[in-house]
Amino acid sequence: MKFTDFLKKTKDFSLNILFPEKIKCIFCGCDIDNFEKRPYCDECAKQDFFNTGNRCMVCDVKIKEHNIICDFCGHKKKKFEKAFCPLLYKDLAKNSLLRLKSDNARYLAYPFAKIVYERIREENLDIDIIIPIPMHEKSRKRRGYNQAELLGNELAKLMDCECRNNVVVKETQTKDQKTLTYRERLKNVSNCFKLKDKDAIKNKNVLIIDDIMTTGSTINEVAVTMMPYATHIYAAAVARDMVE
Ligand SMILES: [Zn+2]
Ligand SMILES: [Zn+2]
Repeated sequence: MKFTDFLKKTKDFSLNILFPEKIKCIFCGCDIDNFEKRPYCDECAKQDFFNTGNRCMVCDVKIKEHNIICDFCGHKKKKFEKAFCPLLYKDLAKNSLLRLKSDNARYLAYPFAKIVYERIREENLDIDIIIPIPMHEKSRKRRGYNQAELLGNELAKLMDCECRNNVVVKETQTKDQKTLTYRERLKNVSNCFKLKDKDAIKNKNVLIIDDIMTTGSTINEVAVTMMPYATHIYAAAVARDMVE
């Protein structure tokens, strides 16, 4: 083996030990050259789990060509102005997001935040503060962390603003939204959040962040608590899902 090859191998080996996941595609796990530029490979970039095409201008869900807003947003106005969800909750994107939530794969928060950041950057928003969707204290203790907080902290670094965790708290434990219908979801999260520090968001542009947005009812409920005080309220989630 040539000495240069040996050095390269040693470098790769050390990088693998130091940052085992940092040089792999976050979706398929293959090796990639420039993680900082884009944390996924060329093959994954071509997949259909990116939220593109014609979408609701409020909640970012895919809608028919030439429509402007979806039926849900048309029927009931959301308390946030606009949502940004770069991925669809399906296939490899879903698997990867499930790992962030269930497998303690906290390192995924940074690349996911980066994908959200790239999407928000297109809009030239001026955000003062990021508020992650809070978890109930009991659920947080059980999991050991809140994935929305991890995302919020990473996004705040990228956007050069602050991220605060205890501005809004979840006071009531709710059922898992996954098993519920659209109507049940609205009722389930109704009034479960409380604004604890209104000065933190007063006259500020707020971005609420979560990992997945399905009906938007959870994010909406958090927005309700801040609406009387904040200047603008936006929302972001890594992936957009839909109720079947
Ligand atoms: Zn890939
Ligand atoms: Zn909508």
